[in-house]
Amino acid sequence: MSIENAGIFPKIIAHAKEYGFVFPSSEIYDGLQAVYDYGQNGVELKNNLKLLWWKTMTQIHENIVGIDAAIFMHPNTWVASGHVASFNDPMIDNKDSKKRYRVDHLIESYAEQLESEGKSDKAKAVLEKMNHLLVLEDFEGLYQLIVNEGIKCPLSGTANWTEVRQFNLMFATQVGSVAEEANTIYLRPETAQGIFVNFLNVQKTGRMKIPFGIAQIGKAFRNEIVARQFIFRMREFEQMEMQFFVRPGTEMEWYHYWKETRMKWHRALGIPEHKLRYHDHEKLAHYANAALDIEFEFPFGFREIEGIHSRTDFDLRNHQELSKKKMQYFDNEINQSYIPYVVETSVGADRIFLMHLCHAYTEELTGEGENQKERVYLKLHPAIAPVKAAIFPLTKKDGLPEKAEKVYKDLKTEFRVVYEEKDSIGKRYTRQDLIGTPFCITIDHQTLEDDTVTIRDRDTALQRRLPIHALKEEIGQAVAFARVFEKL
Ligand code: ATP
Repeated sequence: MSIENAGIFPKIIAHAKEYGFVFPSSEIYDGLQAVYDYGQNGVELKNNLKLLWWKTMTQIHENIVGIDAAIFMHPNTWVASGHVASFNDPMIDNKDSKKRYRVDHLIESYAEQLESEGKSDKAKAVLEKMNHLLVLEDFEGLYQLIVNEGIKCPLSGTANWTEVRQFNLMFATQVGSVAEEANTIYLRPETAQGIFVNFLNVQKTGRMKIPFGIAQIGKAFRNEIVARQFIFRMREFEQMEMQFFVRPGTEMEWYHYWKETRMKWHRALGIPEHKLRYHDHEKLAHYANAALDIEFEFPFGFREIEGIHSRTDFDLRNHQELSKKKMQYFDNEINQSYIPYVVETSVGADRIFLMHLCHAYTEELTGEGENQKERVYLKLHPAIAPVKAAIFPLTKKDGLPEKAEKVYKDLKTEFRVVYEEKDSIGKRYTRQDLIGTPFCITIDHQTLEDDTVTIRDRDTALQRRLPIHALKEEIGQAVAFARVFEKL
């Protein structure tokens, strides 16, 4: 991570707030840590990302259907899934700053520091040791590693640590009106279990044949201890998960298929190859026989945006055991019943929102000498941009606003467009650049004569003249989801 890059992140956060993308939650009360609200432009960008993912899964793949399960689930769900027993992260507290850290994050930051000092071998050895101890769940060993390496709390600067302890990340709440009758239930920490418990409902009612998938978008909640890096790690966030049910023994084939397919999806939306990479898990979760992350290079380094996990039959088998309901599928091609294996793709809507915001945020110098100015714009893929086009009359007189409004009214039935007549054209361009609007259309005096307009491209700032009747086709081509699908 270069210092220059890291310095851009606070600017991106400020930009997100100033231009209506992301606000701190309940900000008038000073906010709530690791909880955020999406503003008028943010919600459009996020909805576009979600819709694109949804259509990719349920429209482009003919053997995937969607569901929308409830956030509250029977408490046994989380016993079967293993979350009650082991959705824990090892934590350590610094006694001086009273700050609590996830042990793996603390050690990873230390390794990053070693790396930046050119001590790559040492960094690698520390991470290897940490992974080994995490697999063994050796908390004493992890504590010793922190002490032996002399890792200090970034806040207090001391190494005055408590022992390493486990901490459950699920939020509990009560259902039932009278306290004594109330039952403890959890806010779901992942959306996947809503899919597993509905596996047979969907399979039977949809007469689905293996291999098939079930997709879902929804909120998930985790009491993240180290809540940092803006919307990268939130306590309430949104997941887009797809569980793909396969015949046992074929899971690795599908694991590779989904690994490639999901990477292509991120690239199709304009994220360059060198900013994405795979990271294979060394410490496998309790349910997985293979797992990897797709990582994006954020200004603060490469971090996970999506997980691809081969979950075996772990979840369905445990639900079968606890619920005493059969979770089997009869495969008439081989004349056998079995509990299917599952390969899942799990991506955070907020994380890819942040990825696109970071990638799109551009500062550029334009002009020469004294006229040189900095131009800031969001080079968002047109398919996900909150506003597709802005329509401006050049001036507020001579019948230009009336003509521009006509164009606006015609375009708004197909695209999310805005009409603006305040301020100079330059200022209006700037306002649209800042929120990533791909096209600005100006109605001028020539329009009244020949029904042509200027259309300005956000990224090049170049203008062309086009007949009004060609606008729908022009904008439609650029913003169509089909253009993304073609690249898959
Ligand atoms: P991490 O290691 O960053 O905590 P994870 O491995 O626990 O993530 P998964 O359980 O695999 O994450 O969840 C799948 C996806 O959900 C992640 O790739 C990420 O995009 C998203 N996600 C998970 N936790 C959060 C969070 N606290 N805030 C925002 N998105 C999250």
